[in-house]
Amino acid sequence: MEIELFMCRSDNYGVLIRDPKTGVVAAIDAPEATAIETALARRGWKLDLILITHRHFDHVEGIAPLVAKYGARVIAPVLAKADVPGADRYVDEGDIVEVGALRADVWATPGHCVDHVSYHFAAGQVIFVADVLFVMGCGRVLDSTADALHASVKRIAALPDATRIYCGHEYTLSNAKFCAHIEPDNAAIAARLKTFEAARAAGQFTVPTTVGDEKATNVFVRAANAAEFAARREAKNTF
Ligand code: FE
Ligand code: ZN
Repeated sequence: MEIELFMCRSDNYGVLIRDPKTGVVAAIDAPEATAIETALARRGWKLDLILITHRHFDHVEGIAPLVAKYGARVIAPVLAKADVPGADRYVDEGDIVEVGALRADVWATPGHCVDHVSYHFAAGQVIFVADVLFVMGCGRVLDSTADALHASVKRIAALPDATRIYCGHEYTLSNAKFCAHIEPDNAAIAARLKTFEAARAAGQFTVPTTVGDEKATNVFVRAANAAEFAARREAKNTF
């Protein structure tokens, strides 16, 4: 799988994936049509599919212009139907999405919002989780529950350590500082904070991360139970 990662809007990550066998290209979400068009042009790709993770405007705003320009097919979570009308297909837990010869399992991953799905490409050991899990962080609980988010985060963290995780925003420095505040004696967290401070100062991306790195350094993944997870999520809101 070829993956092209780029910034959209202020802090959204845009992602394009391409199946080298068939040349089929998919965008994960549609945060900003012009940024996605630029990325496609840079690689000489056309857009066949748009895989939507959830209904928030910063993930769907580019759908209409991209469909108009490329005729891309839109796949969206079934619970996002009201906010993403006119998709070609609505998916839910257990569905399979094909990007050429690449296959993704659709995971229902509620918690940030009720409709949120993630796309897991098991063969390539990659998962696209948008606003469920961030590098050293997790999404806010908006119209769902902390328990649901905790379950979704734990499920992602149960994948093999080498699994690469692509998330929807660059929130890493704020998250890393919070992790260092919660676990001041965790050397892996301290080291990663330092690495990311340098990376961000140099304008580098911090995505993708891996399951193994998140297990070692993400205090939401590391929460002992649902109550501790919820308390940390609350504390992060005002950190
Ligand atoms: Fe969101
Ligand atoms: Zn978002």
